[in-house]
Amino acid sequence: MKHKLILNGVDAPLLRQFGCDCARCAQVTKQANLSASLLSFDEGNELAHHTLFDAGEGVADSLVDHPELRGNNGRLDQIFLTHWHRDHTAGLNRLLGGWALNIKRRTGSFPPKLPLWCRQGTAAWMHRYYDFELDKFIEMSMSDENAPPGTVLEAVPVASIADITITPVTLSHWTADFTPGREAVAYCCCGYVLESAGTKMVLMWDLDNQNDWLTRPQTAAHEAAIEKLADADHLFVDCSFWHPFTKPISHASFLELLEFAPRLRPKETLLVHLSGHPDGWRDDGPDQGGYGWTNEQWTENAQEAWAKAGLGGTVRAPSIGDTFWF
Ligand SMILES: [Zn+2]
Ligand SMILES: [Zn+2]
Repeated sequence: MKHKLILNGVDAPLLRQFGCDCARCAQVTKQANLSASLLSFDEGNELAHHTLFDAGEGVADSLVDHPELRGNNGRLDQIFLTHWHRDHTAGLNRLLGGWALNIKRRTGSFPPKLPLWCRQGTAAWMHRYYDFELDKFIEMSMSDENAPPGTVLEAVPVASIADITITPVTLSHWTADFTPGREAVAYCCCGYVLESAGTKMVLMWDLDNQNDWLTRPQTAAHEAAIEKLADADHLFVDCSFWHPFTKPISHASFLELLEFAPRLRPKETLLVHLSGHPDGWRDDGPDQGGYGWTNEQWTENAQEAWAKAGLGGTVRAPSIGDTFWF
């Protein structure tokens, strides 16, 4: 089998912001929340499996526009969620509703329920917010754990694409890590390591500014997690802000990435979930570095800082439709 990963969206929750006059919001380009599709092709080069990672706003539009998924080719076989936040799940209703109706139109019956995997903590939130979608379209499977950030979970087998291993690694994500009702801590978020015999891709979103284990591992579990994430051919990493916040906040910054990148040694680093805004407005200093930057400006500034830090490999902000082959 041949596999490729396509980006369906690269953006943070708020996309182009109502009421903002910055260069980023003035850009008329397609935007969608962070999401990727793993497309797998059989020996005859026919699309044989579509694995979707996250489905926030705008993702359905990206899928409709992919040449391999256009019109009657629109297949979907498996969903993985990094966590329950709306920018990773709000597109499920439209995506699954449209798809199921069109399968019925084409074949006369609704498709079987679609397998969806997520962490146990996220499953609880999904039942709270997406009961209709779970009831109609989804066959939920979940991890039976509440492992702390920096833990390698068991690989999730996907029978039809056995030559790719999908391994969740737990990440800390402030504002996601609670039970519904917020009465207790429940770790809800993970990244995914996608490995074939010759290629490793790491989806490391969303990630907050509390993941100190990436820079200063304290336990054997942390070391194992770093080893799992290290030496990726392509590392997709949440980098919402340029400067770190001093208070706990849901996302990491580029300058924090510079701290943990030497341990991860990615060959190519893709900056995603870029906000270009202070999102909630910074109250810990006057510096608004990154404010209003377009992806081109992110790339330019990141490449300069990467070189100055003496890091190997390349870095850039990718676009919707960018494709990465296994
Ligand atoms: Zn999130
Ligand atoms: Zn997010």
